[in-house]
Amino acid sequence: MDCIFCKIVNGDIPAYKIYEDDDVLAFLDITQATKGHTLIIPKKHVENIYALDDKTSQAVFSKIPTVANAIKESLNPIGLNLLQNNDQPLQSVFHFHVHLIPRYQEDETTIGWVNHQDSYQDADYKHVQTEIKKCIK
Ligand code: 5GP
Ligand code: ZN
Repeated sequence: MDCIFCKIVNGDIPAYKIYEDDDVLAFLDITQATKGHTLIIPKKHVENIYALDDKTSQAVFSKIPTVANAIKESLNPIGLNLLQNNDQPLQSVFHFHVHLIPRYQEDETTIGWVNHQDSYQDADYKHVQTEIKKCIK
C-alpha cells in the first residue's frame, strides 16, 4: 500500500519520533505549522475517523494527553490545538492522524470559525439535533 504514514511506521522512511508503543506512533509533522507540531497515529492503517474501531481509537486518543503534556512542558506554548481532518479536500494523508499544534504568541497559525448563532432559533438547533441523533448507532 502506498501510504506515507505506513512507511514511517515500518521504518521505510525516517521521522522525528516523539512517542511509540505497540499500537501508536507520534512524530513531528514535516511542515511544523508551529514549533513542536506533532502527529499522533495508530500503527494500524485506518483511513479516517469513520473507519476507526474502538480499540484503535482508545489506543490513539488515550495517548494524546501524554504527548500534549510533553509538548507543553518542553516548549512552553501559550496553548495547544488538536486538529483532525477527514476526507478530501481537508485530509491530505489518508491514514488517520490527529494534529497537536502548540500555539505561541504571534504565531502565524489561524484556526477559527464564524459564529452563526444569530441565524439559529430553538427550532433550528432541535432540527439539527434530531437529524444527528437518529443516526447514532
Ligand atoms: P492532513 O491535511 O491530512 O490533516 O495532514 C497531513 C499532514 O501530514 C500534513 O500536515 C503534512 O505536513 C504531514 N506530512 C505529509 N507527509 C509527511 C511526511 O513524509 N513526514 C511527516 N513527518 N509529515 C508528513
Ligand atoms: Zn497507512
